[in-house]
Amino acid sequence: KQYTKDDIRKIVKEENVNFLRLMFTDLFGTIKNVEVPVSQLEKLLDNKLMFDGSSIDGFVRIEESDMYLYPDLSTWLIMPWNTEHGKIARIICEVYTADRLPFEGDPRNNLIRVLSDMREAGFTSFNIGTEPEFFLFKMNEKGEPTTELNDKGSYFDLAPMDLGENCRRDIALELERLGFNVEASHHEVAPGQHEIDFKYADALSAADHIQTFKLVVKTIARKYNLWATFMPKPLNGVNGSGMHVNMSLFHDQGNAFYDESEQDELKLSTDAYHFLGGLMKHARSYTAVTNPTVNSYKRLVPGYEAPVYVAWSGSNRSPMIRVPSARGLSTRLELRSVDASANPYLAFATVLEAGLDGIKNGIEPPKSVDRNIYVMDEDERQKAGIADLPSTLHNALKEFQTDPTMKKALGPHIYQSFLEAKRLEWASYRQQVSEWEREQYMELY
Ligand code: ADP
Ligand code: MG
Ligand code: MG
Ligand code: MG
Ligand code: MG
Repeated sequence: KQYTKDDIRKIVKEENVNFLRLMFTDLFGTIKNVEVPVSQLEKLLDNKLMFDGSSIDGFVRIEESDMYLYPDLSTWLIMPWNTEHGKIARIICEVYTADRLPFEGDPRNNLIRVLSDMREAGFTSFNIGTEPEFFLFKMNEKGEPTTELNDKGSYFDLAPMDLGENCRRDIALELERLGFNVEASHHEVAPGQHEIDFKYADALSAADHIQTFKLVVKTIARKYNLWATFMPKPLNGVNGSGMHVNMSLFHDQGNAFYDESEQDELKLSTDAYHFLGGLMKHARSYTAVTNPTVNSYKRLVPGYEAPVYVAWSGSNRSPMIRVPSARGLSTRLELRSVDASANPYLAFATVLEAGLDGIKNGIEPPKSVDRNIYVMDEDERQKAGIADLPSTLHNALKEFQTDPTMKKALGPHIYQSFLEAKRLEWASYRQQVSEWEREQYMELY
C-alpha cells in the first residue's frame, strides 16, 4: 500500500504508535533493527535519520560508519505485539551513505538496482511466490530450542494434532491481519514440519514479506513455547526445509512467460525458455546464494524430496526446476532448490540476473528430463547431460567465484564481502571434528 507522509503522521496519532522500528537486512539475511521513539518521526520522513553502520557485522568500515536510513513508506506496518509502552510500527528502510548515495552493501538496494536493469530489458515486474517450510521444536526451561518435536503429524494431516496445528493457524491468522494473502497453510512431510504459502508479489515486496514472515512465525511460535526454525536440515534422516521459489516476468501485456498460441506444447514463450536456459546455465553458481550455509547441502541429498541434479521438467515434480501446470497469469517456473537460510534480496537478484542473461543471450535450455532422475545411474545422467548441484558450500563457492554473472547480480561490494564471509564459514566448519567421525573411526583405527 502506498502511504504519504501525512498518512503516516495521522496513523501514528490515531493508533498511538510510540516506537518506530527501522528495519534493514544484512548480508546473511539477518534483520537489523534500529528502534527510535516516535519523536524522531519527522527526521525519518525527511531522510535525515542517521545510524552507525560500523556496528553491523561486515557492513562498512569504521571510517565510513555514518549512514542514513531512507524509509520505504509502502512497508509501514503496525506490529501486532503491543508493549506496555504503546504500539510499535516497523518500516523497512534503504541504507544510504553519508554522501547520500544508495549504499552498495545493502542487499535491498542491490535488488532495486537489478530490478531496474530488468525494466530496461522491457519487463514491468519480476514476480515471486515462495513456499517456506519450517520446523517447530519444543523449547527447554531456559527458552532454548531442543530437537524434540511436538507432533507426529504428516503431509496435509487433518487430525487435530496439538500445539503445532494451533500455532500454525495462529500464524496464518496473524499474517492475514498484517495484510498477507495466505494461499495455503499445511503440515509438511516430516513430523513437526509446516509450510505456509502466501500470494506472489513483485520481487522487492516478496523479499520484504519473507523477512516479516520469519519474524511473525518465530514470535507466534514462542507464545506456544515452541521454537520455529528455518534451518535447512535440522534433523538426521528426516526431510529438510526448503523454500521453493516460483517466478515469472510480467510485461505490459501480462505474463511474459505465457504463450497462448498452440505453437509450443507447454505454451511457454521464447522468453520463458531463455530465462529457463539462464537459470539452468548458472544453477551451480547461484546455489552459493540460494543455499548459503554449510547445513544447506545436507538437505540437497537424494531421498528427501530435495533436488540434487540440475534438471527441469514440465511434468515431473522432482527436478530442480519444475514448470507447474497452471497457465495464463500463473505461468511460472518453480525453483525447488532454494532454502530459507538464503538472504531473499540476494537470492532473487542472482536468479533474476541468471534469467536475464538467458534472455539477452538467447540461451536455450537443455532438454527436459521427464523421468525419475533418481533411478538413473551416474552414467545415464552423464549421457543425458545432467549435472549435479554442488555437494558442499565449498564447491558452490568455487562455481560462484568464477561466474561473472554473479558479480553482476550482486555488485562488486556484496560479491566480495559474501565470498569472504562464506569462505570463513567453510574454513571454520572444516576444522570441526564431528560426532559422526568419532563414531566411525575412534575404535576402527
Ligand atoms: P506447489 O504446487 O508447488 O505446492 P503452491 O500452490 O504451494 O505450489 O505455491 C505456488 C506459489 O506460486 C504461490 O506463492 C503463488 O502465489 C505463486 N504464483 C502463482 N502465480 C505466480 C506467478 N505468475 N509468478 C510467480 N509466482 C506465482
Ligand atoms: Mg506449496
Ligand atoms: Mg506444495
Ligand atoms: Mg512443501
Ligand atoms: Mg512447490
